[in-house]
Amino acid sequence: MPLLPRRFERIKAVLDQRRDDLTVVLEQVDKPHNLSAILRSCDAVGVLEAHVTSLPGRPRTFNSTAKGSHKWVPLHPHPDITSALQPLKARGFRIYGTHLGVEAVDYRQCDFTGPTAFLLGAEKWGLSPEATALVDQALFIPMVGMVQSLNVSVAAATLLFEARRQRDLAGPGPDGGCGLPDALYQQRLFEWCYPSVARWCQEQGRRYPALGDEGEILEELPRNVRLRY
Ligand code: SAM
Repeated sequence: MPLLPRRFERIKAVLDQRRDDLTVVLEQVDKPHNLSAILRSCDAVGVLEAHVTSLPGRPRTFNSTAKGSHKWVPLHPHPDITSALQPLKARGFRIYGTHLGVEAVDYRQCDFTGPTAFLLGAEKWGLSPEATALVDQALFIPMVGMVQSLNVSVAAATLLFEARRQRDLAGPGPDGGCGLPDALYQQRLFEWCYPSVARWCQEQGRRYPALGDEGEILEELPRNVRLRY
């Protein structure tokens, strides 16, 4: 079925809200309902992509909690926490680690308007010492109940929505608040509109075709590829 103009407009409206300077890094979070719920929150606040390290031999799976959000927010796997965090640090991200050490601050005192990564720990044991050592600022979400910690997906949602709230309040900023760099925007736009054609282009090592004003592909593609959309 061809891409409907209405669908194209909807995809662009959502992509306009995506940001590549807000993310989560999940250290050995592996329960499908938690991964799914976290990606759903990422989608809701406009996170472009998320990161995870897994225990060896544990496949990452999602369940119906995701409501398909794992298709819209890629979860990048990393072999260990250093490889997950170093590229973000190199890009100027501040790493906020969620643990309850003495140096941890109430998350409501933090400024999340700059490049921000929330580092969240495993359901059973929280963050590893290696991860904790790479944190720029430890934070916690204050709790007054009998139980000592939140479910990891609830913690992620609390932090992500606070970051989004702060950014909405701060306004667009000097760059006009434009979201993604144009090349990245165009790349994601094509992948969201035509996922199987995008996969074919990647296999062939060719650039994505240009799109017209209504989202139509402006290039003549082989018939077997045209049948994919
Ligand atoms: N027993 C674990 C521990 O001692 O860390 C509990 C892990 S908790 C269920 C899983 C993750 O959720 C934590 O690593 C943290 O990322 C996040 N989390 C849970 N409660 C939190 C809170 N009050 N503030 C910040 N993060 C929290």
